[in-house]
This record gives sequence, C-alpha cells and structure tokens, in this order.
Amino acid sequence: MNSAVGTSSHTPMMQQYLSIKAHHPETLLFYRMGDFYELFFDDAKKAADLLDITLTARGQSAGEPIPMCGVPYHAVDNYLARLVARGESVAICEQIGDPATSRGPVERRVQRVITPGTLTEESLLDAATDSTLCGVCGTAERYGLAWLNLASGSFSVAERSGKAALLAELERIRPSELLLPESLNGAVVLPGVPSTLRDALAFDAQLGQAALTRHFGTRDLSGFGCDGLDPALGAAAAVLEYARASQGQELQFIDQMRLVSDDACIVLDAHSRRNLEIDQRLDGSSEHTLLAVLDTTRTPMGHRLLRAWLNAPLRDIAILQARQQAIGELQEAYLDEALREPLKRIGDLQRILTRVALRSALPRDLARLRDALAALPEVGQPLDEVVAVRLRALKPDAGAFADLQALLTRAIVAEPPAVLRDGGVLASGYDAQLDALRATRADAGQWLADLEVRERDETGIATLKIGYNRVHGYYLETSRARATDVPDHYIRRQTLKNAERFITPELKEFEERALSSQSRALARERELYVQLLEILNEDLGRLRTCAEEIAELDVLCCLAERARTLRLEPPVFSDAPELVITEGRHLVVEQVQSEPFIPNDLTLDESRRMLIVTGPNMGGKSTYMRQVAIIVLLAYTGSFVPARTARIGPIDRIFTRIGAADDLSGGRSTFMVEMTEAASILHNATANSLVLLDEIGRGTSTYDGLALAWASAVHLARSTRSFVLFATHYVELTSLAESLESVANVHLRATEHEGRIVFLHSVQDGPASQSYGIQVARLAGVPDPVLEIAREKLTELEYNAHRATASPLQADLFATSRAAISESDVHEPVSDPLRDALEGIEPDDLSPREALEQLYLIKSLSRRTPR
Ligand code: ADP
Repeated sequence: MNSAVGTSSHTPMMQQYLSIKAHHPETLLFYRMGDFYELFFDDAKKAADLLDITLTARGQSAGEPIPMCGVPYHAVDNYLARLVARGESVAICEQIGDPATSRGPVERRVQRVITPGTLTEESLLDAATDSTLCGVCGTAERYGLAWLNLASGSFSVAERSGKAALLAELERIRPSELLLPESLNGAVVLPGVPSTLRDALAFDAQLGQAALTRHFGTRDLSGFGCDGLDPALGAAAAVLEYARASQGQELQFIDQMRLVSDDACIVLDAHSRRNLEIDQRLDGSSEHTLLAVLDTTRTPMGHRLLRAWLNAPLRDIAILQARQQAIGELQEAYLDEALREPLKRIGDLQRILTRVALRSALPRDLARLRDALAALPEVGQPLDEVVAVRLRALKPDAGAFADLQALLTRAIVAEPPAVLRDGGVLASGYDAQLDALRATRADAGQWLADLEVRERDETGIATLKIGYNRVHGYYLETSRARATDVPDHYIRRQTLKNAERFITPELKEFEERALSSQSRALARERELYVQLLEILNEDLGRLRTCAEEIAELDVLCCLAERARTLRLEPPVFSDAPELVITEGRHLVVEQVQSEPFIPNDLTLDESRRMLIVTGPNMGGKSTYMRQVAIIVLLAYTGSFVPARTARIGPIDRIFTRIGAADDLSGGRSTFMVEMTEAASILHNATANSLVLLDEIGRGTSTYDGLALAWASAVHLARSTRSFVLFATHYVELTSLAESLESVANVHLRATEHEGRIVFLHSVQDGPASQSYGIQVARLAGVPDPVLEIAREKLTELEYNAHRATASPLQADLFATSRAAISESDVHEPVSDPLRDALEGIEPDDLSPREALEQLYLIKSLSRRTPR
C-alpha cells in the first residue's frame, strides 16, 4: 500500500478506509460506497487485473491520484466467486451508519471476510466439493492438524509424526486453504492451495485449550478425547478463531470436535491416491474416476460423503460390516429405489442448516428446508421394517420435525423471492400485524382509484389520471392543454412535453401513509424472519444430526444400487494375513471400455507375499494391480467389491508406485520422483501393507535400474514382508521366485496370431516367456522401417549379451548367422549360410541356454522373410 504518508494528509473518507485496511493487510478490501464496492491502491490494481475490470483513479490523496476500481453491489457474488477460485480472500466492508444522519463518512465495518476455506454462501460454494480450512502447526516430530468444514459444521483434529504422514493426511483432507504459523511458511506447501499465515501465538496449545474449552462450554476437552493434545489443540484454536473472525460472529453450532487417530484409516499417501484415480484422474479431470463410476447419490451431501469415504477407508471392521449389512438389505429389498425420489427432495440440507446457524439463510433456503422436512417421512416410511442395525439408526423419525415443517409451511410463501429485501417472503395468514400492514397497502389501490374518479368529476377533466414515480411519488397528471383548468389547491410538480403533473395535500398525506405502511410491513417481515431463524436454531443440533444421517443413508443407497447394477459382492474380512480374490475386475476400466473385461484371481498369503508380474506392455499389468488396490479400498469403505469373492485380511496402508509421473514443475527428474516414492515405501511399509510397484528403476540405465529394482524387491520380500505386486520388464527379476520362498511369478498372457500380438489379459502363474515389445510398438503405429531396424538391433543386443559366454563353435555360428542376417534378402527364405552353419552342429552339443540363443537367431531371420 502506498500510504506511507501519514493518514492526516488524506480526506476523512480515505482516513477511514486506511484505518480499516490496516486490519486486513493481506486481504482485498471491498469498501462499500453506495451502490458499489470500491477497491483502492494496490488492492485496486490487483483486483482490476484478476477480474479484468477497469482501473481508474478517484481524486487525489496526499497529492497522488488514488488507483481505484469498483464492482456493483448487486453483482458482487459473481466477482467474489472468481476471486475465491483464484485463492484470494476478500474483506467485505459495509456501511452500517445512516448516511442521512452521519456527519463525515458513514460508519463502516468489515462484516465478513470471504476466504477460500470458510465459504458458506451457496453462490460461492461448489455443490460437489467442500470448502475446508486446515490449520497445521508443530514440528516434524509431531504435527498438529485441525480442519473445519464450516458449511457442514464438521471439525476434526489429528496429530501426525513426520512430513510424509502430514502430507498424506493433507492430501486426504484436501483443504481449500491452509492456516500456518510463520515457522511453517514454505515448509508445508500444497500445490494450488493458498496459505494464510498467523502469529505463532494463535497456535499456542495452552491458550488454545482454554479457548476451545470456553467455546464448547465444557470443563476440559476429555469428552472429545483431546485433553492436553499439543500441538493439535493449538491448530484447532487457530482454525476456530480464524473462522469466527471470517464470519464476524460466534460459531456456536460447531459443537463437536473429532479426533482422527493415525490408525483409524488405511493410509494412502499422495502418490497412491493419485495413482488409483479415486476422484481425480492423473490428468486432473474427474471423469472416469472411481467416484464417477460409483456415484449415484441423490443429494449433494451424499456425494460429498461418498467422496470422503473413498478417501478415508476405515479400519474399524465393525463399522464396515454394519455398512455391508445395510447395503445388502437395501439392495435385496430394492429399498434404494423406493428412497430415490424422497432423497432427491431433501437436497443440500447440511449447507442450508449452516446458513441457518449463521443467520445468513436466504428465503429460498427456508423454502428448501421446509420441502426437505416434508420429504423426511417419505424417507422413513420404506425403512419401517428394516433389520440392519445401521439402517434402523439412520431412519428418520416420523414426525420428528413435523412442528418445524408446519411452521415453515405457514410462514413462508410457496416460492419465495431470492432475497428478503423487498419482502413478499412471509406468507399471509402467518402474522396478523403483517397482514394488517399489507392490507393498508392493498386498500391503497382502491383509494387511489376512487380519488381519480372523484377528481375527474370535480375538475371536469376526463383525461386526468393518477400515476407514480420514484422521484416525485404519487401525482395527478393532465395534458398540457388542460393544465390551466386545474383548481388552485393543485401544486405543480413536473412539466413534461405534453403533460403537467400535480400533487394535492390530500394525495401527499396518503402517500406518506402508504409508504410508511409499506416500510413498516417490510420491517415486520424482517422481524418475523429473524424470529423464524431463532426458532430453527433451537432445533439446530437435531436437524444437523438428521442431515448427517440422510447423507449416510444416501451413500448406502447409492452403494446398494451400484452393487446390483455393477455386480458387486460383499467382501469377507479375515484376521489372517491374506488377500484372496476370485474374478476380480477393475471397475472403471470395465465401465469405460467397450471390449469385455477379463476377470482375474489373486492369492496372497503368509507363504506367498510377493508376485512378480510380467507380460507385454498393454497386457494389463497396471490394470490388474490397480484393481487389487481398488478392491481393497472399496472393501474398507464398507462397499461391495467388483469380484466374485474376496477375502481380505488386515491392511494398514496402500502404497502404489505406478507410471512415471514427471515432476517438472518441482524440478525433479522422473528418476528422482520414482526413487523418492520408492524410498517412502521402503521406509514405511509394514507386513500389513499392500504395495504396488510398477516398473521401478525404469528411469535410469538398465543396470542401475535392474539393480535397484532387484534390491527393492528383496528388501520388501525379506525385511518388511509386505504384500507386494511387482510389475517389471526386467526378466531377471523372475528368478527371485527361485531364491525367495514368499515370491511367486505371474504374467499377463498374450499370444501372437497372424503376426499380430493378441492380449488375453488373463493372469497366469509363472513368468512371461517373451516381451512382445516390438509387436506392441507395431500396434501403436510405429512405422515399419523403424520396426525393422528395431528388430535388427534387438538381435544384435541379444547376440552381444550372450557372446561373452558362448563357446568358440557358437561364436562362429553367431558370426555366420549375423552375416547371413545382414546379407539375406528379405524376400528369400532362410539363407544358405545359416543352414550350413546349423547343419554343422548336433543338437546335443548345445546347453539349453545355447539352444535358446539359436532360437533367437533363427527367429530373427524368419522375421525378415515375408509373411
Ligand atoms: P500394462 O500395464 O501391462 O502396460 P495396462 O494395464 O495399462 O497394461 O492395460 C492396457 C489396456 O488393456 C487397458 O487400458 C485396458 O483397456 C486393457 N485391459 C487391461 N486389463 C484388462 C482386462 N483384464 N480385461 C480387458 N481389458 C483389459
């Protein structure tokens, strides 16, 4: 801000602006001036740039023109949404004094700070995603986290050790805004998520504990299992205070704090989450993700809950089994179909209730709340007879909110206007006083009509008529020609081209009466509206619980419907270390591709913990590995899974290292990214972890890569003893199965048909016999001449690799064959020199390996003969 000059050299209005701005240095300040919000100085430059609006200047202050831009107040939501989407925060400064009675600038105050992580307004929220504020403090030894979703009112805390665990948690929470102490500035970074810094004092755990205890009105925090938690409570207090300040009011409706322990969920680190494409594809899109295939929820809150479930697979088997039971019963009795319509009518109850709590609910929010409450009995009715414990718990009580629903039905018109400002929201018959005031206004119409008739009679001017405009109020109008015929008590108001307008004392008096009854009706309506919000707030806790239950019911119905439609089966949880799947499928690939999907089995147990997966590119290795991870993940959300049967032992983490994601923006090479991910897996995997490794070591030279892949496999098999699927191109790795007991080979089958590779996509025991690289390249459209050179190079490489161990006789043979290959005409069958060479050898002279080498040569020649 270029306001280094003392404020005294500014106009009084600018002085007021600067003193308010001083409290919001980091935030764009929208300063209300009549019908506009205006921005000044650097704020103006920044906003003009971000919003693509004109930057002008407003007068001068301290001898300099003041950069200024503005947006009309009625369109402000649109501008706010754009700024928030860019990660900006905006302080909304309103005029709260009355301009008519103010001396000097009208009193103004910041009433709300809009920040990306504290959104509650429907106009700014995306129905599908949460706006979550997450505070982090502490050190790598122990980080404290607290995250608040203001729009749904959920508030959670956790502590995590180490940066990797912190980042995994943040990736799961996926906050819209980070709140950090200065000490973590730059140390905790989430790409694309804005960070707000606060003084270390805001994160003090002891002060935090006291503040939270005050907020919850409890003696201590032991009821939440959080007493004395340092640093989590520091983060929680900072988050709550920041949210409170942003709303400009206390947040009593935040009446719970949930402690999320490290072992509550299956841990999925950031890479794994991305690799499995849970709700976002690697390219950033949300089509064809697990969420997209699974989501048939009927309410936005159900959609958000499903996303949360998929992102936080639970380890509490009792909860999962309760969900399974519920899904089973919904599915079998087709209850999900009966519930579809009523659920749809419930809408986004959660967010509406938050706005009720913040007293910012708009008339249409109340109408939707009314309709939602009306739909509740219909949601409850199909569940009357259910057995599943979870369903019984979620079934809304018939009549629980009948009173509130009746109240809202009486109070609010069927289709209220968007805002309360112009009235017309409260229904007639609800309040006698309001009805009387409105009647006065309605009577006015008749009174005016009567007056018009009377004045025409008295003046004899048949064209005399009564009109109204905003500037002059009510008037009597005659044509210019008859203007001289009006009586003396008519007072001239306005002269138009063809008409004259007059008022009379009687009309003036009427006007005052009418206008005052109108403004009194509006005031009464506002008063009743506020009362209504207060009444609703008395039941807010119950209403919010109900909304949460409906969201869960919605998700369970969705999973039941999906189970039926996508042929999903309930997995069995076992205590033994095992992962046994028959006819497993990859849900998304199956849905997206037109060819039939080939189901595959998997057996991993105590004696068979690692599978080396080989097979040609495009053979289905990564699909197979991902499908296993997704089946486990779905099982641990309580959902049914895409397999005929699945028996799943305890799993604590899922790691994936699939595909080579370049981190170009982070300045790390493919290999560096790959090794960083591998390091994290090797450090953190346990015997209960599921580890998927695809082509590790590919980012470097063959020998380095092979050596690293080999060493990683050995470590995982011997030391951590995790469940591992290890896809590789290094054929050498397949020999691990011979030396390590718990390692086995499987491969994706492919075959050649008429010179073309055919992928069978079926998983078979044993290593793949060849890699079909060149055939795959051909499929991909690599030009024939290039394929030809590649084939020759392949032969040469294979030749060189074996020459070192070849016998003199073989060396000769190879040399002859090489010559034969390069000389032979592609149109000729196998050439004579080779035949001669081959004839000189008795098959018995050759070891199996040597025989194999010959095979290569013969093959390479035959490849050159035309088909
Ligand atoms: P790889 O990792 O071996 O290169 P992918 O797993 O990427 O191969 O699979 C390549 C393609 O093959 C997939 O995009 C999919 O279309 C198809 N595919 C993979 N597995 C199957 C399967 N089990 N059934 C049918 N098609 C499959």
